[in-house]
Amino acid sequence: MTAATYDLMDFDEVLEKFDPVMGLEVHVELGTETKMFSASSAHFGAEPNTNVDPVSLGLPGALPVVNAKGVEWAIKIGLALNCEIAESSRFARKNYFYPDQPKNYQISQYDEPIAYNGYLDIILEDGTEWRVEIERAHMEEDTGKLTHLGGESGRIHGATASLVDCNRAGIPLIEIVTKPIEGAGERAPEIARAYVSALRDLVKALGVSDARMDQGSMRVDSNLSLRPIGQYEFGTRTETKNINSLKSVEQAVRFEMMRQAAALENGEEIVQETRHYQEGDGSTSKGRPKETAEDYRYFNDPDLPPVIAPKDWVEEIRSTLPELPWVRRARIQKEWQLSDAEMRDLVNAGALDRIIETVEVGATPNEARSWWVSYLSQKANETGVELEDLSITPTEVARVVTLVNEGKLTTKLARQAVDGVLADEGTVDEVVAARGLEVVRDDGAIEAAVDEALAANPDIVEKYRAGNKKVTGAIVGAVMKATKGKADPAQVNKLIAEKLQ
Ligand code: ADP
Ligand code: MG
Repeated sequence: MTAATYDLMDFDEVLEKFDPVMGLEVHVELGTETKMFSASSAHFGAEPNTNVDPVSLGLPGALPVVNAKGVEWAIKIGLALNCEIAESSRFARKNYFYPDQPKNYQISQYDEPIAYNGYLDIILEDGTEWRVEIERAHMEEDTGKLTHLGGESGRIHGATASLVDCNRAGIPLIEIVTKPIEGAGERAPEIARAYVSALRDLVKALGVSDARMDQGSMRVDSNLSLRPIGQYEFGTRTETKNINSLKSVEQAVRFEMMRQAAALENGEEIVQETRHYQEGDGSTSKGRPKETAEDYRYFNDPDLPPVIAPKDWVEEIRSTLPELPWVRRARIQKEWQLSDAEMRDLVNAGALDRIIETVEVGATPNEARSWWVSYLSQKANETGVELEDLSITPTEVARVVTLVNEGKLTTKLARQAVDGVLADEGTVDEVVAARGLEVVRDDGAIEAAVDEALAANPDIVEKYRAGNKKVTGAIVGAVMKATKGKADPAQVNKLIAEKLQ
């Protein structure tokens, strides 16, 4: 691919001239057992077109039945987002043709969403709190999935054939739409990222979705417009669709700010359109002109009755809400006596949940923190995955901590054990056994290695005896080498001191 060039305005210059307005639409796939309107499995990863039925295939005469769990979980999300819950809401048909949707309409909610008027408070990197207002959270169904063959990098562009998989068609989705976010200025990209991240933590804590952006169970559309500083009316927005990582959300907003500013500065008009995010270079490219609501010919779905959510049911659901992430954070910070900055580092590293879980299975907060925030974060960075997607569990980390505390592993050996677990070689104990990592406790073997190292380094022994006690590093190094790193350095030092007395 040749590197494209774009007409972009420098970010700082954008801020001098324009005020960004942003709106985020986040789709969350619910982790229910079955689909929103039929009994097919809603699980991810099955063979194509095996989780299907007459309803999700849109066969004539098939009738949808609402998944009660889907409604309950939508209410859960609404409540956690401080929304009002509609006592009565409706499903509507959003009509459009696309091959991944056999019915030619998507069941969604339109002017009567189940939850509306809420907010989510997020914490920015420097500790500032920012309130993102929520316009609505509504229920809908996911579409099927197309796989494009023959083209470049799986895109429809240049493809020679496309395959349709309806497994995803009908999986419950909640779409959460923000009110326009104004006054964010230079922070717009950061706010977009922090909001999506907070929302992800929230739905995971609620247990309603695994919110895997990499697998598409959480997807973001970001709307952005610019208006000249001082202007009251909003400018025309573009909508960048289906962004699938936190980093990309931030970059998509940043890129659109710089691109739109350059276009406006050149006297071009921004057209309301959808755009695609390009993972490769962090740009966005033109999609289709944006349909308006009228184009979809929304009308209430005659196959589905209104959704009735009596107040006492809503209150019952409220009482089942788990400790929400921000409450949990405040509690943990107090319990572990962390400063605001320390706490923020944990949250920003995406490590808090893992640390808490590691403490729950026996490590101290400091031990757990030190593994997740340093070595494991580094490993996650190296392999380009999120911390929580590393193939090591909190239980395994706690086990490593125990082995170190018992003196069975040195820090260095412990890291090798962790490497083995990350490489899917087995549990910590299996890796330790298979790689022979355990610290050598056989005093005879270590003593022999010390004797050998002392004999091989008479010059160092001489210096030591002359009063320079700091020279033993080379001896320890030689012993470590001879024992393949399995001797306990403290024990080696002690032996050296004893022998050279
Ligand atoms: P659509 O059906 O076009 O996706 P939605 O109402 O679902 O529209 O979402 C539009 C999103 O864009 C909302 O988050 C809204 O707050 C935001 N928005 C609306 N107008 C503007 C604008 N001019 N600039 C930026 N964002 C906007
Ligand atoms: Mg929308």
